[in-house]
Amino acid sequence: MAYDPNNVFAKILRGEIPCKKVYENEHVLAFHDIAPRAPVHVLVIPKGAYVSMDDFTAKASAAEQAAFLTAVGDVARQVGLAGKGYRVLSNVGEDGHQEVPHLHMHIFGGRPLGAMIGKAG
Ligand code: AMP
Repeated sequence: MAYDPNNVFAKILRGEIPCKKVYENEHVLAFHDIAPRAPVHVLVIPKGAYVSMDDFTAKASAAEQAAFLTAVGDVARQVGLAGKGYRVLSNVGEDGHQEVPHLHMHIFGGRPLGAMIGKAG
């Protein structure tokens, strides 16, 4: 899938729409989800134009990839979830029910999250 520069996270990165920022560095931005599914629901995104995890690992530099992974753990700690437990999730494409076509990692926490996903079938 080609990257759509008009997706909502691209607009956040360009400063065209606001976000509730929790973390930022050269390669990564993290902010609160606008429609939280848990008491803590943060999104971590790379600043580069990548659609998905597989697009990212095919095209992003080693520095970008390291920064993204590091940010996920650092943000979880920063928002107080380390030790309590949390869930990290990335939806990709049609089967993954991805709504925003810019790579993002959801971090959920703040309550027991239940089983992972429904069983196959
Ligand atoms: P996904 O289905 O994984 O693509 O999830 C996209 C997520 O982006 C959803 O949880 C939305 O609530 C969230 N979202 C959409 N627009 C915004 C926005 N402007 N600021 C923060 N989160 C957003």
